[in-house]
Amino acid sequence: MKPHSTPPPFPENFAWGAATAAYQIEGAWNEDGKGPSVWDDMCHRGGKIKSDSNGDISCDHYHRWAEDVELMKAIGLGAYRLSLSWPRILPVGTGAINAAGLDFYDRLIDGLLAADIVPWVTLFHWDMPLALYHKGGWQSRESVEWFGEYTRVVAQKLGDRVKHWITLNEPPCFTGIGHLDGIQAPGDKLSFANFLRLSHHVLMAHGRAVQVLRDECSGEVLIGFAITGNARIPDTVTAENIEAAKSHMFRIRRKSQWNISWWMDPVYLGHYPADGLELFGGDLPEITEEDMKLISQPLDFMGYNGYTADRVVASPEGPVELKHKDGHAQGFLDWVRMEPDALYWVSRFFHDRYGDLPLVVTENGLPSIDWVSLDGRVHDPQRIDYTARYLQGIAKANREGYAISGYFHWSLMDNFEWAEGYHARFGLIHVDFQTQRRTLKDSAHWYRDIIEANGWNIAG
Ligand code: BGC
Repeated sequence: MKPHSTPPPFPENFAWGAATAAYQIEGAWNEDGKGPSVWDDMCHRGGKIKSDSNGDISCDHYHRWAEDVELMKAIGLGAYRLSLSWPRILPVGTGAINAAGLDFYDRLIDGLLAADIVPWVTLFHWDMPLALYHKGGWQSRESVEWFGEYTRVVAQKLGDRVKHWITLNEPPCFTGIGHLDGIQAPGDKLSFANFLRLSHHVLMAHGRAVQVLRDECSGEVLIGFAITGNARIPDTVTAENIEAAKSHMFRIRRKSQWNISWWMDPVYLGHYPADGLELFGGDLPEITEEDMKLISQPLDFMGYNGYTADRVVASPEGPVELKHKDGHAQGFLDWVRMEPDALYWVSRFFHDRYGDLPLVVTENGLPSIDWVSLDGRVHDPQRIDYTARYLQGIAKANREGYAISGYFHWSLMDNFEWAEGYHARFGLIHVDFQTQRRTLKDSAHWYRDIIEANGWNIAG
């Protein structure tokens, strides 16, 4: 429902943040008792990752976190989204706790709070303990309880200070790209039926984690789930095109992981979408009412990682998706196409379908090739322009009452970009991976000014 007076483009308590993930920045892959994850394994197998690189050292954040918190302070971040490495905390996934691993996060959280930066913690950003994968991984229904146990350990240690939680990062990616397409860890190519069963467990694990967090954390906690997927936006803004884009965004048309409603509907509405149930038919696992209750635990926000969007027009035969023309503004990775209104439309469509919870942009950013110039600075005008435009989309959504309550730039710093290795740089901070020298890019200085003005200097 739209409020009567126009809300500000960025509310007073808007979360101005940046995001990272454990495997992409920490390094120290086998230090202080950490167990291996499916990503360590996939990278070390060779032949799967560009230039055969890996996250063994990456940004060495495990040892340099204090310097990195100083840099966050220099940017003026109000919030920082990090993920925890499950095998750093529980080396084989369940059972024995690695105190050193847990202490690392304990120190980091304290460091963030001392710097006045609110930690937003993601429980799972893809690095499943290898030992659990060998026990069946997400294919095993036991994974629901494994994840619950891990969440309890984490919440008992950090739940007195961490108030913002994200259970899973982008389930379509780690289930689909990891278990159907075989491109990301663990690199499997399962049947569609097995993929659906595994995805069902993943959603139940999300629900279990929500229950545990609410049980174990003290005080008020805000919990969400971070989805991603192609936004669909009207090519020109007519009532017909808006309807076409919205229905195209949520309709299930093919057997793949890229069906946003397959993930969002169970979590936020308590049931799988009818068109998916029909299309997937014989491939479906057993789904009980109990399962759905677990999956649809009440949440506090909707997380969305926004990188890509397609334009849609209405036609008598139904919605038609338009291909982007060659030369359309895009990032170094071609699936990051500039469509700055995407966040506005996603927020609007999510509010229409899922109700009043605020949206949090848990990731958005531009991959590019940046380097330190002769003048010692890193000039990244495209990132500045890209981010400014996307923030304007957020301002528009807020003004129209489709609340967006936070923005996390991906990424705080250049890092290990999964199967792409170190080729694409997403950071506000440039990292020289040979020397580990960090340099704030122009975009980081620019972002500091935006944060300081609470976005008024960009809102138009
Ligand atoms: C992931 C990040 C990734 C980014 C850019 C998201 O899919 O959550 O881990 O680095 O997009 O590809």
